Amino acid sequence: MRFQFLGDHLGLDLAATVSWRETRPVDLLAEPADLREWLTLAGLRPLGAVTADSLAAAVDVREAVYGAAYACVAGRPVGSADLALLNDFAGREPMRPVVVRAGVMTWSGGVEQALATVARETCRLVGTPEHARVRRCEGAPCTRLFLDNSRAGGRRWCDKRACGSRVNAAAYRERRAARGERAEPGLS
Ligand SMILES: [Zn+2]
Repeated sequence: MRFQFLGDHLGLDLAATVSWRETRPVDLLAEPADLREWLTLAGLRPLGAVTADSLAAAVDVREAVYGAAYACVAGRPVGSADLALLNDFAGREPMRPVVVRAGVMTWSGGVEQALATVARETCRLVGTPEHARVRRCEGAPCTRLFLDNSRAGGRRWCDKRACGSRVNAAAYRERRAARGERAEPGLS
């Protein structure tokens, strides 16, 4: 799947719609239809049209989420422009919860409301002690941010199978090389 939801947080998953940010960034939200698809996969299927303006607003929210969350990871103060934008969107009308039956709930609203919901979730992340649990994947060149909900707070990768195993395989090859051993076929 093009879009991945590995961040354990709605805002961080939106931020992840630019992949490989530091090496060769790819913006997965190129067209309004991409935004509709992401919102639907995120459980926020929007009513009404998704326009070029709504896409531009979503990109603004996304970059403010990334900026604020990255500041948390880096231990830097969150930029005032990012805070202002998040607070602005968080103050708008959010999506409305709709209970279908016991145990099943959906959300109702348009793109504007969906972006308000994302901004609210991000304010709850950045503005509470949870902000200390935002991490950046250690599986370079992956730059994905995620919320570490593990009990010990030691989660290192957005995806253990992809990024975790890639890093472990590289470390294994380095150790073998340091010992002067030849890499086995298929491991190099
Ligand atoms: Zn990763």
